[in-house]
Amino acid sequence: MTSTWAIALHGGAGAIAARAYQREEEHMAALLDRGAAMLARGESALDVVTAMAAELEACGLHVAGKGAAPNAAGFVELDASLMDGSSRAAGAVAALRGFLSPVRVARGVMEKTPHVLLVGEGAAQFAAKEGFEPVDDPVAYYAPAESGLPNSGTIGAVALDTSGRLAAATSTGGLSGKLPGRVGDTPIIGAGCWADERAAVSCTGVGEYFMRVNAAADVSARIFYAGQSLEQAAAGVIDEVRKLGGLGGLIAVDARGNVTAPFASQGMKRGLANASGLREVKTFQ
Ligand code: ASP
Repeated sequence: MTSTWAIALHGGAGAIAARAYQREEEHMAALLDRGAAMLARGESALDVVTAMAAELEACGLHVAGKGAAPNAAGFVELDASLMDGSSRAAGAVAALRGFLSPVRVARGVMEKTPHVLLVGEGAAQFAAKEGFEPVDDPVAYYAPAESGLPNSGTIGAVALDTSGRLAAATSTGGLSGKLPGRVGDTPIIGAGCWADERAAVSCTGVGEYFMRVNAAADVSARIFYAGQSLEQAAAGVIDEVRKLGGLGGLIAVDARGNVTAPFASQGMKRGLANASGLREVKTFQ
């Protein structure tokens, strides 16, 4: 055990300069403090990112969980993933309909199946069999959050715990008006979510670009193969997304407790904290 811990949360890179995000920032600040307290008293990074992501899904302030928007056929189909850096265990769901917390179902996939990713009907059958809480009345439950940039929103959490373990979780409603069955980067381990012994990363933005850059895993690869710092690695990945014409950002922590949150968009709702006294909740630069 050490006294080093770190945490970062995001509520999507679709924020636009034309509006204020006070409610989102207040909620994120309270959640960040809760997550920091959990880590400071020795809870695992995996439990902390799961709890943080589930709360961000439930709050309805971001385009994930309750705040998700329907696809082109009028159905809410959600994607989520999480990864435990210490074991490289991972779980994910894609195009999941009818469950309150896709990230909790993703954790179920990780812990209760030999698989990493379940999609569509199969994911829903698994969630029902395991007793995950359903959304009984989708019309009453979902209230699409105002996302800013057209169509986009995601939530994510990354953490380093006092045992030196890293974990990441990401959950999204995807792009509103997306084609039925469209899956973005969020549930793709390596693209929208990654954790290993070097870094934990959660991405947000136009997922097609993040998949083509293999964004989340590339942060760790740059640290490993190129000897980059966390900050350099994360900024380099966002540069690649930008060069392809993509928009978005990411949050990342490393095994030393560094935290970074670069983005190529007008804003990204985010909160960062670590044991060295960093505590920052912001949407814009
Ligand atoms: N990355 C998500 C997706 O493409 C959307 C977002 O982050 O805004 O599904």
